[in-house]
Amino acid sequence: MENNELLYNLQKYDIAIKTAVCEMDSLSGQKNLMTAEVKKIESDIESYENKAKANSIETAKLEKEVEFIETQIKKINDRFLLIKTEKELGKYNSELEKLNADKGALEEKIIASMEKQEKLSARIKKLKAELELKKAEFSEEMLLINEKMAAHKEELDKLSAHRREFVSGIPAAAVEIYDKLMISKNGVAVAVVSKKICSGCHLSISDNTLSQIKFKTAMVCCPNCQRIIFLE
Ligand SMILES: [Zn+2]
Repeated sequence: MENNELLYNLQKYDIAIKTAVCEMDSLSGQKNLMTAEVKKIESDIESYENKAKANSIETAKLEKEVEFIETQIKKINDRFLLIKTEKELGKYNSELEKLNADKGALEEKIIASMEKQEKLSARIKKLKAELELKKAEFSEEMLLINEKMAAHKEELDKLSAHRREFVSGIPAAAVEIYDKLMISKNGVAVAVVSKKICSGCHLSISDNTLSQIKFKTAMVCCPNCQRIIFLE
């Protein structure tokens, strides 16, 4: 086989290897997305649980304040029978009124806080159910993905071993040119010529160049895009 053909076949290995690597990257991307989705729900649950905890501490604090006001009310009520003057009665009334108003305001806050707690609990419950569903769904998908990845890995190992063996039969200087072109020509170092057109740059190749491919064993490149050309 002439060098151009060897390099063309080498490129076939490289394209297959690149495809397998892309497949693996894409599968690993899918895994990352699933993991991120689960983590997002878990962090949402954590954040809602923290809110619920803070809210329940706040509620307990409000309840303590109500208890305190109730003891105050009881204290001044105990003094009721000791009231002797209008002035004392007025003071008693205004104190009691203020305490009851404070108690009422606190109780309203407690109701609001309890409603908030219920909403948070419902949200947490919903998220936990969603998390379980996602985990079940993803564990099946993960299994499939892992199987596919293992198959790609096996294929990749095989391809890489074959490539190593194959490349050892090509002159090093030719491989060096190929490797450089592979980098500079966006992964296509060898272009097929069909109907006198280079598949790399889509320009026509002169008969003179074509005859060089047919009759010379030296490497022939496209005069326009510099890719190694190969007549299939
Ligand atoms: Zn070309």
